[in-house]
Amino acid sequence: MKLIESILTKNPCYTAGRRITVKGLMLHSVGCPQPSAQVFVRNWNKASYDRACVHAFIDGNDGTIYQTLPWNHRGWHCGASGNNTHIGVEMCEPGCIRYTGGATFTCSDKATAQAVAKRTYQAAVELFAMLCQKFDLDPLGDGVIVSHKEGCKRGIASNHGDPEHLWTQLGLPYTMDTFRKAVKAAMGGGAAAPGGVSGTKIMGAAVATAEQMKAYIKAKNPKVAQSVLDMVPLYLSEGAAEGVRGDIAFAQSCLETGNFGFAGSAVTLDQNNFCGMGITANGLKGNSFSTAQLGIRAQVQHLKAYASTEPLKGECIDPRFKYVARGCAEVVEWLGQKENPQGKGWATGAGYGEKIIAILKAILATAGGTAVPFKVRVTATDLNIRTGPGTDTAKTGRFTGAGVFTITEVKSGPGSAKGWGRLKSGAGWISLDYAQKI
Ligand SMILES: [Zn+2]
Repeated sequence: MKLIESILTKNPCYTAGRRITVKGLMLHSVGCPQPSAQVFVRNWNKASYDRACVHAFIDGNDGTIYQTLPWNHRGWHCGASGNNTHIGVEMCEPGCIRYTGGATFTCSDKATAQAVAKRTYQAAVELFAMLCQKFDLDPLGDGVIVSHKEGCKRGIASNHGDPEHLWTQLGLPYTMDTFRKAVKAAMGGGAAAPGGVSGTKIMGAAVATAEQMKAYIKAKNPKVAQSVLDMVPLYLSEGAAEGVRGDIAFAQSCLETGNFGFAGSAVTLDQNNFCGMGITANGLKGNSFSTAQLGIRAQVQHLKAYASTEPLKGECIDPRFKYVARGCAEVVEWLGQKENPQGKGWATGAGYGEKIIAILKAILATAGGTAVPFKVRVTATDLNIRTGPGTDTAKTGRFTGAGVFTITEVKSGPGSAKGWGRLKSGAGWISLDYAQKI
């Protein structure tokens, strides 16, 4: 989370100087096509701007949060009594939409608009998690986290439809309920993952190597077919082709096929279906693919359907792609319907995602991982150093600063797709998502 303090000291709301006891947080979106938070900061920081004042703006282009009032300052964000109790945060909106009346708009570039709305949503999750911790608020408590629209229904805000109007019209799977749950999840991890939801993101570069995956499967299933060992690298190449973590796909296959032993499995090895695809009821045999590569490709495409709203890069060969609610499971933990905030997902059994995570961790713990030591370049000046490999460990309070650093150990852990690297200096661990291997 990138937070810049940019207090609107000239705005009459600031100079009025009233304080509140923070009881809740209200989410807004600006209601006009302007992705730049700095434009609002500039225009609102004037003595003549006496119409409104909020606590923060979230930039649509890069997700940076500009804090524009002290958090316990009374804002002018919702036009009613909510100003006395709630912090107000505005998400900027895509530049490619045009309002045609009220909360209705047209959009000339849906992919860009979705990316902006997703970015601000995720940054808002991180900010709200931080504020809930700061003010000891329960994100799922009644009336604690509300949208402007919900505030109106509760009689504490004026009649606006933001920000739900944005998500609905852009076809995003977000609601205030998914938002509150994501805030709760982000708090559970001690800190939010870069994506705004806590967990292991399915999209990204694989962390495990082909050698680790082969060593893992040989240990679990000594009789594993040579053809299975030969196809392991395909998980990495097919995953990379779509931006999906191939090691996660492989871990899922280990779960679905009983470590490629197919004992008690509905599918057989010659079906080239390594993910139980098409077995929508007991007794069904599921889909078949002509080669192992195509079977793995279909699985990777199906994972992308769940994990992302981006289009496929290759031709769609996943026969079930069209049945997936796109982007409903950004993290492995949400692949199981029981754990998914929307009740959607790949499998119905409890703890499905956790089982895949357990396998992934075991794979990463086998020998043959990233060769250490290696050097990385960090360009961010505010990259946190943590006491352990994950956002669930404490921050040391120190930052790397920009420069070149030596990594002596790599471990997987929450909050970083590429894993965590131990600094040679002994200062702690950094997320390799923000470091370039050199
Ligand atoms: Zn609003």
